[in-house]
Amino acid sequence: MMRNPLVDQRDVQFVLFELLKIDDLKKFPKFADQDKDMYEATIDLALKMAVEEVYSVNKEADKTGVKYDPETKKVMIPEGYKAALRKYNEAGFVGMIEDPEIGGMGMPGAIAMACSEIFTSASLSFTTYPGLSHGAAALIKNFGTEEQKNLYLEKMLTGQWGGTMCLTEPEAGSDVGNLKTKAIPQPDGTYLIQGQKIFITSGDNDFYENIIHPVLARIEGDPPGTKGISIFIVPKYRVNPDGSLGEFNDVVCSGIEHKMGIHGSATCTLNFGDNGKCIGRLLGQPRQGMKIMFHMMNEARLGVACQGLALSTTAYMHAVTYARNRIQGVHVTQMLNPEAPKVAIIEHPDVKRMLLWMKGYVEGMRMLNYYLAHNATLIEVLDGDAKKEAQGMVEILIPIAKAGCTDTAVLVTSEAIQVYGGYGYTADYPVEQYMRDSKITQIYEGTNGIQSMDLTMRKILMNPEQYNYTIMKKRMAETIAKAKGVVEDKYI
Ligand SMILES: Cc1cc2nc3c(=O)[nH]c(=O)nc-3n(C[C@H](O)[C@H](O)[C@H](O)COP(=O)(O)OP(=O)(O)OC[C@H]3O[C@@H](n4cnc5c(N)ncnc54)[C@H](O)[C@@H]3O)c2cc1C
Repeated sequence: MMRNPLVDQRDVQFVLFELLKIDDLKKFPKFADQDKDMYEATIDLALKMAVEEVYSVNKEADKTGVKYDPETKKVMIPEGYKAALRKYNEAGFVGMIEDPEIGGMGMPGAIAMACSEIFTSASLSFTTYPGLSHGAAALIKNFGTEEQKNLYLEKMLTGQWGGTMCLTEPEAGSDVGNLKTKAIPQPDGTYLIQGQKIFITSGDNDFYENIIHPVLARIEGDPPGTKGISIFIVPKYRVNPDGSLGEFNDVVCSGIEHKMGIHGSATCTLNFGDNGKCIGRLLGQPRQGMKIMFHMMNEARLGVACQGLALSTTAYMHAVTYARNRIQGVHVTQMLNPEAPKVAIIEHPDVKRMLLWMKGYVEGMRMLNYYLAHNATLIEVLDGDAKKEAQGMVEILIPIAKAGCTDTAVLVTSEAIQVYGGYGYTADYPVEQYMRDSKITQIYEGTNGIQSMDLTMRKILMNPEQYNYTIMKKRMAETIAKAKGVVEDKYI
């Protein structure tokens, strides 16, 4: 195991191999040629790259941020990220869970989740680029035609092209159904896209050769509200039938946001079709846009839950190291002894309390996230009732994980500053960035208020016979029954 400043590797291994027993997936044909050694080697590689390539440029990227040139309309991402992205792409991390035939590694979800925690703990902003690329590619994989898959998938999953998700507009934030972007049908079956999207992560940048935007828009004449929304594939540069780049597709970045945190992540306003030349192709069927986008949103929401976990993880790790090295005061039992030696602050009960509180949440969040990712894998390999149960667990736990882990991240990163004292509040130390970066996780991918509505309405009340809730209660009862035996046998 490699000593590192980001995550406790032993704790990661505990959840993966002792709790979830990920290596048991070997019994399914999809994972038959994989084993624990392979998973551990992948995690070792992720850690090494995260520390050496990503963490090493995180502070500088936070300081310089993303730049925008209003003359050329170009968006420049931090230089350090580019070298790191190249290595990340070459190692195959973009499509970790995808099949090798389309450029992936074919790994289980929980291993990908562990790697995601590791890279995100090195720099959240960095991971927004490959994260969005994978999410957009997965949409095309699940809903695209064979032609669309052949044109886009491999290039996106190998990191040659990037991806986004384009929902938000000035008057359509939480209320997505209020969007105004139009799709005008053309005789050749394509659509002219016209409208403006705001707050688009990785919406433009000088790293990818091309950027593929899944865009929510309303076909002219379709009904208002979410029911009338369709989804289109809109590339920055048109793609020729042989996969080569064609002409510019009239997608212009008209500005970027200057934000409290995630400075290295490009948050762009995108104008589609200001010159009437933006062509989009329908993804799936007309008026199925929200249903299709929900697939990407579910993955993205789990990704944001992981961001909450990762920021908490790295904040905790930094706080422990700092507390071991900062000498201040004497041990509480020696308070009246003028000769008493000074101690590291980790010796003080109140600092221990803060660290243990943080660690408790970090471990809980890690278990929840890995468990969710593991259930997503089980959906793929199981059949019948077992598959249905795994599906139910994923559906109900996603809003819980997204809101729970991100609300907690704001508290845990704040507590890390408390452990550092005044130094933690300064830009000379890393933890203030974690707190700034954590705030957005409560807001994007649907605010945490919207997650609560998703949980109570879509995932419970509107779910036929409240199946999801019944399964979750059953699993909780099983866990409590198991824990009862352990607690009574060992501690009572
Ligand atoms: C850095 C950043 C990156 C982003 N990346 C993307 C991206 O890549 N793609 C994309 O499409 N969007 C992106 N967004 C947009 C983000 O998803 C929205 O900001 C978010 O969904 C909230 O929308 P809003 O900002 O319009 O807030 P509003 O919808 O105006 O919400 C304001 C407040 O009202 C509450 N509220 C709103 N409606 C209800 C309701 N019906 N019931 C109860 N409470 C309600 C909200 O919970 C919130 O507290 C990004 C935003 C930021 C800041």
